[in-house]
Amino acid sequence: MRMKLFHSMAAIGLAMALVGCDAPQSQLKTHDDMLALDSHLDTPLVLDRAGFDISHRHDWMQDYAQVDLPRMKEGGLDGGFWVIYTAQGPLTEQGYAKALAHARQRSVVIDEMVRNLSYDFALALQADEAARIAASGKRVVYKSIENAYPLGTNIDLLDEFYAAGVRMVGLVHSRNNQFADSSTDKAGQKWGGLSPLGRALIKRANALGMIVDLSHAHDEALAQAIALSTTPIILSHSGAAHLYEHPRNVPDALLKKLAQSGGVIQINSLSGYLRDLNTDPRRLPEFIGLYRKYQNAPGGMRENHKAFIADRRALDKKYPPDYAELSDVMDHIFHALALMGPDHVGIGLDWDGGGGVNGLQDVSDLPKITEALRAASVSTRTIEKIWSGNMLRLLRLAEAARTQ
Ligand SMILES: [Zn+2]
Repeated sequence: MRMKLFHSMAAIGLAMALVGCDAPQSQLKTHDDMLALDSHLDTPLVLDRAGFDISHRHDWMQDYAQVDLPRMKEGGLDGGFWVIYTAQGPLTEQGYAKALAHARQRSVVIDEMVRNLSYDFALALQADEAARIAASGKRVVYKSIENAYPLGTNIDLLDEFYAAGVRMVGLVHSRNNQFADSSTDKAGQKWGGLSPLGRALIKRANALGMIVDLSHAHDEALAQAIALSTTPIILSHSGAAHLYEHPRNVPDALLKKLAQSGGVIQINSLSGYLRDLNTDPRRLPEFIGLYRKYQNAPGGMRENHKAFIADRRALDKKYPPDYAELSDVMDHIFHALALMGPDHVGIGLDWDGGGGVNGLQDVSDLPKITEALRAASVSTRTIEKIWSGNMLRLLRLAEAARTQ
């Protein structure tokens, strides 16, 4: 019944396919009933910081933490991809070795969270495990890599991370690396898209059964990856350039190509990518300087978290930050839906990695997204795809293509 209705609606056109056409019982599904996963949780960055405990409720207004167990429950967030993020450093053997040690440690920190809180979290290795884990009342922990820089020039290391549970790999971050051009490197392009090593990395990810993530990559790298990868590409936390011309956002023509190849964009909530902000230009350099100061201090961010928070609050007073609105996030979701269709849009809000807007500053606010989708007459079936179905379809395809 539901399928038949859906097909007849689809025949009428894309716009109509987005509106309600479900069987009545599925319309009764609440946000909590849906499997809700976010494809970009940067929370592993803060997991081992002094003063942070994921099993306790934190307050964004106090310590800027956006994800913890109580608020995940409150916001109906079942889990997602927990990111092993490594900042870009020099493309040298020394730089690679330092980055590799860092990435391995982030993976261990995720494992420790799952082990120490085994009643609340479970590591997920396959697409089908997410629903089972969520049904058991636990949070779903997939692992992903943001910035493959730690692999150096040895892509065999990707196998090690696969064995550690990683099921998604993002090639590049804010600067060009050995695999691909970044969308935001001030030096311009180094490779004209993907490097030869980047092509080899995508092939290895396909063989292993990992999703390939091109968020942060230059548009040319994205276009080449779409053509090269044997399974659809994900943009784990990106936006639409049609709404705001920023190099982190992707133009419509490329988003259409992504959809035609089966790929998915997961919409980001980093305010500076969503629209022009009204912030004192002196804020950003001081903000970056603050991070550098504590990252380079003895004990790093891990030991100096409290002092960092105090300094950040002082900076917020001196140069108040401007944030985009929940409606800006929704605009990017609606634009992607209209352009790409219901099978190619998801949620990757960059929590604890720069995400968050007015009205959506932590995961407890997530039901507002479902409410806004419903208010726009998006069907329950489509909302479920946005919250997890589309991303898990990509993981299922990656698993099926695994040859190694
Ligand atoms: Zn990012």
